[in-house]
Amino acid sequence: MMSKLHEFELSQDENKSDIIVVNSCTVTNGADSSVRNYISSMKRKNPDAKVILAGCGSHSKGEGLFEDKKVFGVMGHSEKEKINEILKIDEPFYQIGDLKHIDSTIVEEFIGKSRAFIKIQEGCDFRCSYCIIPAVRGDARSHKEETILEQVTKLATNGFGEFILTGTNVGSYGQDHNTSMAKLLKKMSLIRGVRRIRIGSLEPIQIDDEFVELLNEPWMAKHLHIALQHTSDKMLELMNRRNSYESDLELFHKIADKGYALGTDFIVGHPGEDEIEWAEAMSRVKALPLTHVHAFSYSKRDNTVSATMKQEVRGDIAKKRHRELTELVKAKNFAFRQNHTQNLEVLFENGKDGIYHGFDQYFNKVEIKSEEDLSSNWVLLNNVEVTSDGNKAKL
Ligand code: SF4
Repeated sequence: MMSKLHEFELSQDENKSDIIVVNSCTVTNGADSSVRNYISSMKRKNPDAKVILAGCGSHSKGEGLFEDKKVFGVMGHSEKEKINEILKIDEPFYQIGDLKHIDSTIVEEFIGKSRAFIKIQEGCDFRCSYCIIPAVRGDARSHKEETILEQVTKLATNGFGEFILTGTNVGSYGQDHNTSMAKLLKKMSLIRGVRRIRIGSLEPIQIDDEFVELLNEPWMAKHLHIALQHTSDKMLELMNRRNSYESDLELFHKIADKGYALGTDFIVGHPGEDEIEWAEAMSRVKALPLTHVHAFSYSKRDNTVSATMKQEVRGDIAKKRHRELTELVKAKNFAFRQNHTQNLEVLFENGKDGIYHGFDQYFNKVEIKSEEDLSSNWVLLNNVEVTSDGNKAKL
């Protein structure tokens, strides 16, 4: 949206702005209330501003908020490209657009970032029981290969060396265009200046032989994030997932044996997760070569199948399980880092007071003190100090 805004001045202070665009999230009921509270607070603090709702919340809550006159306008995902024209509308409007649209905006620069994020697809064909995303993002559809490659070429010319592929369900890229993630990666790697490629997230069933063959390539970041969501088969079934523990275990070992760090998403406290399932899940997590985890405590989302499931897990129990899981994976990450202290290729981000942070190829954070400005620099590090809070190094 920012790259399409030509005739307006961007302000960082919404209390003084004439127009406030709320790029909303709707993934949990909590996210919905935060958006509603934010809109009400803006009505109080800056009553003359036009509040425009964008993002996923416009598809789930936009109609209601518009009818109740809580917002001046609503713009759906497909309308974001037209933001410059939409902001000129002086009558209340509800422009929800459609969920089949593919954005063709080419972003050539990311302010203050050393890594470039490239959106390669939108939407999701999965129907996980707890998830509202397909309803507000639509079915999976890929961006055109030439648009992606053009964007990567422009960003690489502008000095970006690391590229992170993102999307709603990134690994489904290509299935609607008779191509594949592996083919896209190969083409990207041939672009001058592309040094390292990361993939935001993959589903286990999306990893095919063609993809596994690429894992030895030097430009592949040596870390994959593969979303499992759980390790108990009963829970995977309740969640309507497409993976199962036995094949996940085999896949994870196959990739870890190639020297990869592996991360996952995991939801704790989904309805039906009793003590037996939890104990089984934890013993299975122990057997997985995991190095990173994004653990989420289940949060009820209206209009999903999981929201109707009985046997809910108490909040304090979910919290305890969340802690147990993150501590276990933290210990695994520590052991991994102790065995990987050499040849770390770190891309540093903007620093402050001579302290810089960056990520190595295994997606572990490294902190370094330096009098030299290391922002956006690649540094090869050996003998890093491994602490429980992360890796540290001196130049
Ligand atoms: S794959 Fe991800 S986005 Fe798609 S339904 Fe499942 S959790 Fe939601």
